Amino acid sequence: MWRLRHKGCSRHCLTMCGGLNEKYVAAMVLSAAGDALGYFNGKWEFLQNGEEIHRQLVQLGGLDAIDVERWRVSDDTVMHLATAEALLEGGKVSDLTHLYSLLAKHYQDCMGDMNGRAPGHASVRNAMLLQPHKAGGWRIPFNTREGGCGAAMRAMCIGLRFPHHSQLDTLIQVSIESGRMTHHHPTGYLGALVSALFTAYAVNGKPPRQWGKGLMEVLPEAKKYIVRSGSFVEENLQHWSYFQDQWEKYLKLRGIWDGRSAPTFPKPFDVKERDQFYASVSYAGWGGSSGHDAPMIAYDAVLAAGDSWKELAHRAFFHGGDSDSTAAIAGCWWGVMYGFQGVSPSNYKKLEYRNRLKKIARALYSLSSKEEIVITL
Ligand code: ADP
Ligand code: MG
Repeated sequence: MWRLRHKGCSRHCLTMCGGLNEKYVAAMVLSAAGDALGYFNGKWEFLQNGEEIHRQLVQLGGLDAIDVERWRVSDDTVMHLATAEALLEGGKVSDLTHLYSLLAKHYQDCMGDMNGRAPGHASVRNAMLLQPHKAGGWRIPFNTREGGCGAAMRAMCIGLRFPHHSQLDTLIQVSIESGRMTHHHPTGYLGALVSALFTAYAVNGKPPRQWGKGLMEVLPEAKKYIVRSGSFVEENLQHWSYFQDQWEKYLKLRGIWDGRSAPTFPKPFDVKERDQFYASVSYAGWGGSSGHDAPMIAYDAVLAAGDSWKELAHRAFFHGGDSDSTAAIAGCWWGVMYGFQGVSPSNYKKLEYRNRLKKIARALYSLSSKEEIVITL
């Protein structure tokens, strides 16, 4: 029998592919829903006490009762949309430098839509310095203070655009360059790499417990690219180890360094203990605000939540750290795996930019699925 099969897809391919289009939609929409929920118009992003957030959540009637109509999306979603729209404008990419100019243009333009959305300092400052119309105007100098999560929170869709195994090198390059347009520090732009890579893993049906090991295997390739690219090589290599060491420590702590074992969590590991843990993996006490720990906290939530949207939200959206960024990343990965399964429609139906997100997701699917279809017997 002749069958259409995506080369990169898992053994679930034939049953999943029919629904993958809608999973792309869920990835974009639920990332934004997570952002809006974690942000709560600025009230919860900056409330550094997870237990207080959970008390307020109960007063609102719990997650399922929240109607996001008046919950605006924050900078994370505005910049994620900018990344996705640049990827679509770039179309079938033959010249990556053209794509980088488009990314720079969209990052700069989207700063006009930041009122009331609490954008990060490095993101704003550097997006305004970019010169999208000049050759190489998407490059900025190295900076030791640019390890924030601003690059990671907007890169997930790069994994939707380049999910196939044969596109891994492109995914590495595009995530790094998109990241260091505003965050030229390994801790910042490697966060973008994780966000994109784990999205691609989710598209391919790779079980989450294997993702961390996958990242460890990809990091040497990323380092080779940094050397090859020739931009501030010495500074980048000098500051490389922090990100890698933090991830190594985390994967060992959860017992998933081998990529096979089931993750282990401390007991109890409730809101208070999670807040303490998130702060302990952070750079300066605010869990999830840097490029290494925003995807790490999102990953920790995905590993524990399984197919439960509520559990994901409790762990990745509602905590005392930088909750909207960990939420935007976790929401995207979870959406690819589970679609809208078990999510209360009130959490996303009236979401700001929902139609724009849906349209973009379908276009990304269409572009990426055309690229690697093979016919097998
Ligand atoms: P954004 O990354 O969203 O643009 P900021 O520039 O405000 O936002 O940075 C967010 C966080 O990044 C800050 O809380 C800061 O502690 C952290 N940060 C800055 N530089 C580094 C670094 N070199 N390594 C890790 N974290 C960093
Ligand atoms: Mg935000």
